[in-house]
Amino acid sequence: MSTFAELKIEAIKAFGYFGEWVFDEWKKLNDTFFYGENIVGEIIWAATPQDRSLGCYFPDKNLIVLHKTLMRPVYPTITLNWEPRHLNKRKVSDVLLHEMIHQRVHQTGGWEGENSHNNLRFVNEVNRITKLLGIDINAKVIQWQTIHGKITPCVKSGCLNIEELSNFPYSSRSHSYYYGQS
Ligand SMILES: [Zn+2]
Repeated sequence: MSTFAELKIEAIKAFGYFGEWVFDEWKKLNDTFFYGENIVGEIIWAATPQDRSLGCYFPDKNLIVLHKTLMRPVYPTITLNWEPRHLNKRKVSDVLLHEMIHQRVHQTGGWEGENSHNNLRFVNEVNRITKLLGIDINAKVIQWQTIHGKITPCVKSGCLNIEELSNFPYSSRSHSYYYGQS
């Protein structure tokens, strides 16, 4: 198993500034939200399966993939000279935080339930972290019920729906949180 320093060096070789930044950010998030307990693995910038999500965690490899499009600037820059300072760090950090929740759940016993988001372990992590973020939301495991012959998710009032749960915390941020930065 590689150390943090070794993995960071590999990431810098592969992704330059982005590799360095993301490892520093991972460490910061680990200390802030996960008691420094997550075990580091590779973090790469690449496509995610079917481009379905902005990030992906592969438990068997302890690998975090951040979608390569996250490297793009928030707004097309006037000069078209894309520089690392244009990276939407808040957004990437939230995607990384989401993948680190999967990492923690996996590394502390895994989950049982409908899928990697709609299960008690993930939901408990969301409720724990959202308090630390100061976002006023609530998550509960979503049950399905049949209404008029249709299988429908039963979302408790004031709780995240499946889409929001699957995209926490970026689904729960205000638009200006990401795009109000200068
Ligand atoms: Zn996820």
